[in-house]
Amino acid sequence: MSIDTDRFRAELEQHRERLRSTIAHHDIGNSSLTEETGELMSSSSDNHLADTASETYEREFDEGLEEDAQEQLRQVDAALQRIEAGTYGACSVCGKQIPVERLEAVPWTTMCIDDARKLAR
Ligand SMILES: [Zn+2]
Repeated sequence: MSIDTDRFRAELEQHRERLRSTIAHHDIGNSSLTEETGELMSSSSDNHLADTASETYEREFDEGLEEDAQEQLRQVDAALQRIEAGTYGACSVCGKQIPVERLEAVPWTTMCIDDARKLAR
């Protein structure tokens, strides 16, 4: 294994926190997610109340972000699980090692660029 998984784990965890705060900020009605982020939400509820005005603006501003954030959170979680399982960095389609440059660009990717392109077609 030539991949520095510690580095990617740190990056993924950071990204996960960002996604969770995005999702929590949008206050969506998904109870399973609320459970997961309950800790985070209660700890940030103090300053949450203070900026109601800007929140309204932001809510309109990134309406479409909500689903994307949830989907990406799932992918980030899955990537972290792959790190734990020791399978991180292997393409889920062809099984080859995903180039580190690609992992740096998209740490939660499950596919090498060739298979990702095939799928996008
Ligand atoms: Zn592949």
